[in-house]
Amino acid sequence: MSKISLNTQILLGTVLGILLGFWFSMLDQESSVIQNSLYVAKLVSALFIDLLRMVLIPLVFTSIVVGVANLRSHQQMNRVWQGTLFFFFSTMVLAIVLGLTAANLLQPGSGLQITMFQDVMQGFQATQMSLPEFFAHFLHSLFQNPIAALAQDNVLSVVIFALLLGIALVVGGERYRNIPLLMQEFLGLILILVGWIMRLAPFGIMALLMQLVATHDTGLLTTMAKFIAVVIGITLLHGVVVLPLILYLVTGMTPIKFWLGAREALITAFATSSSAATLPVTLHCAEQYLHVKRDVAGFVIPLGATMNMDGTALYEAVAALFVANLVGIELSLLQQMIVFLTAMMASIGAPGIPSAGMVTMALVLQSVGLPVEAIAILLPVDRILDTFRTTVNVEGDLVGSLVVQKWISEDKPNE
Ligand code: ASP
Repeated sequence: MSKISLNTQILLGTVLGILLGFWFSMLDQESSVIQNSLYVAKLVSALFIDLLRMVLIPLVFTSIVVGVANLRSHQQMNRVWQGTLFFFFSTMVLAIVLGLTAANLLQPGSGLQITMFQDVMQGFQATQMSLPEFFAHFLHSLFQNPIAALAQDNVLSVVIFALLLGIALVVGGERYRNIPLLMQEFLGLILILVGWIMRLAPFGIMALLMQLVATHDTGLLTTMAKFIAVVIGITLLHGVVVLPLILYLVTGMTPIKFWLGAREALITAFATSSSAATLPVTLHCAEQYLHVKRDVAGFVIPLGATMNMDGTALYEAVAALFVANLVGIELSLLQQMIVFLTAMMASIGAPGIPSAGMVTMALVLQSVGLPVEAIAILLPVDRILDTFRTTVNVEGDLVGSLVVQKWISEDKPNE
């Protein structure tokens, strides 16, 4: 096994997981062989995700502090954060515009009616939050006692605290040289752990995909086929055409070269449906295979994993229009603008965990008076759709790190 490269092992795990899943889905689900195999798959995949989550918080913290502290000059620091935010914002706008245009043209809910889903919706209680409440909640979650944030896995607060500490180190200058050194060494150690965890990736990914394919609900997939096809099609268009095109235009890197370097992260994102759990792998790919400098990757990628979600933004917009189709409401241009803005907020506010977009979906639906209970219709197919949107979310972070690296390399008068 050691002769085969990790990349190939992961690819093998992916193919085997999907094939086994299909095979299992055709056999009797109640048989003890299937039950036992699914049990083992569940244990292996949980172990893999637990290990990734174990290193997540220390990794986010140290990589951001080191990343920001290494941007020694203020001017370089400004360019990185401005470039990063500009990239995140503009690609998210593109994703939502793509989603809204496609949903308007293709009408994914046509032919279906909300009454067809009465059973699913009955008894479903969506967590509702008004826009001001959501905003207050979001603001409140930005700043937290760092020890509590570290202990409670609150990635966003950890990102913010690490950013502030990194900026303080830049401002403080030479006087504080030991802390960056310490963080740098700590980060190095965590990355060694990530390397070890990655050896389990082929098995973890195989187990995750096997479960996903073996337990999918074919009935619902057929009823909602058009919606699913539109969402997956547009998400792929963004991931396969828009993002690679931006990357090529800015850096000259070809899509093939990018995908070869990014594939471990993309496959892990697909299998785990979690940008946060994938983050250690994303950083690993950015630095090892795509040669993004640690200062840039350490800043752009953890920040992106929490707030740059093109796939989620696009999905929220398409899903809102789908629900509008179901209830027979034609959304006006103004209402679509509201969907646009709330989809953006909802994707920035969604944490990088499975189905997080479903929780923030309530906000988008409510903003234009659509029934929040319709989330019950979207939930059963979410496991499938989440795979694609998380992959594009992670792809956006990797493309962002390469683009920002290019931007700052073009403007280095004092280096
Ligand atoms: N699962 C997505 C992610 O981790 C978030 C979402 O549900 O849209 O990136």
